Amino acid sequence: MFDNLTLARLPEEDEALRPLVRQLAQEAVASLPLDVRARSWSGFDAQFSRKLGQSGLLGLTLPKQYGGGGRGPFARFVVVEELLDAGAPPAAHWIADRQSAPLILNFGTEEQRQFYLPRICKGEALFCIGMSEPGSGSDLASVRTRAERTDSGWRVNGQKIWTSNSLHSDYMIALLRTSGGPDDRHRGLSQLIIDLKAPGVSIRPITDLAGDAHFSEIFFEDVDLPADALIGAEGDGWRQVTAELAFERSGPERIYSSVIVLDGWIAHLRGHGRMDEAAAALVGDFTARLATLRAMSIACTARLAAGESPVVEASIIKDLGTSFEQELPVAIGDDLASHPGEAIDPELYRALAYVTQVAPSFSLRGGTREILRGIIARGLGLR
Ligand SMILES: Cc1cc2nc3c(=O)[nH]c(=O)nc-3n(C[C@H](O)[C@H](O)[C@H](O)COP(=O)(O)OP(=O)(O)OC[C@H]3O[C@@H](n4cnc5c(N)ncnc54)[C@H](O)[C@@H]3O)c2cc1C
Repeated sequence: MFDNLTLARLPEEDEALRPLVRQLAQEAVASLPLDVRARSWSGFDAQFSRKLGQSGLLGLTLPKQYGGGGRGPFARFVVVEELLDAGAPPAAHWIADRQSAPLILNFGTEEQRQFYLPRICKGEALFCIGMSEPGSGSDLASVRTRAERTDSGWRVNGQKIWTSNSLHSDYMIALLRTSGGPDDRHRGLSQLIIDLKAPGVSIRPITDLAGDAHFSEIFFEDVDLPADALIGAEGDGWRQVTAELAFERSGPERIYSSVIVLDGWIAHLRGHGRMDEAAAALVGDFTARLATLRAMSIACTARLAAGESPVVEASIIKDLGTSFEQELPVAIGDDLASHPGEAIDPELYRALAYVTQVAPSFSLRGGTREILRGIIARGLGLR
């Protein structure tokens, strides 16, 4: 198993992107308080995404002929790491850049590539992912929302839920049932691109615990799609989605969700001149885990760069990474609470309160911990 995650280095030419993206990220967050930066990858700013696009920092993994950077996943790693580290808002381009574009490149038709990819690279076509449904979250094979063939294309009926950024997206790539029933499990599922402005689509935002409405439920009532809405082969949706999830589960986004709070807390310790044994041990623990997870994530990126689909390795990184992200605000909260005499900067307090509220979702979004452990157990030959 561990032979599959050989240590890798970020290539020099991709490291060279760091100063530019760092500068843009710093400009974007200059006036943002810590608790807004703590939104991490939920932070939405379409104008910032377009600026990244104009600077050649989106679509880095796509071929130049489609407006991409002609590079590989390492380049994207550097950009994502810098954005999250600064707390700059990537949500507008996030899903298109990470998942939709590679999916369209790998499985789409030439017409689809030419139509969507250049706009994704400019930050002008925003995508969301419609996998989950009420009753079909972990158990995606039970998806019920149906696309039926018509004379001119497809007709969609059903409902999706928890769809991040759907309120502001242009398109959804939906996992839909095109044949059979839920009993067929993995067969009969297909991926279709839905224009969210099409008649029959209605979107209702869901407000989360922290008061943000970054995801929604979406209803489809006799939504007519053209024939070329299908991505890849009909009935191949399950295989395509599995490959897509390896991109979703292994990147820096599974490590950096709470990092703003870590920065704020270390600044707090410095400000109060405190580095007692307990605080030093905690800083050391976090730093060592962050460094190890980052090395694992880079090693997994090397597998993606080699054109492989490291599903099990990505699951290990997501499981360990989200545990780290969830334990961090708890430990920092405990540390601050055990020093009641220290004044806490209100920004740090609000950032910690926000991350504490949303942290339970870290191990849900992108596939729950229990599901990942099932995948890992199967990969290890244990089930
Ligand atoms: C912040 C956030 C953003 C999201 N964004 C999106 C999005 O953009 N698009 C999208 O499609 N979805 C999105 N989701 C949905 C997310 O992918 C699902 O919530 C997740 O897959 C779990 O599905 P569920 O909520 O239906 O829980 P369920 O599947 O009902 O699971 C409930 C519990 O049972 C456990 N469980 C279920 N099956 C098994 C099993 N076989 N073995 C062991 N334990 C099991 C689960 O681990 C979990 O603890 C988002 C969720 C969150 C929290």
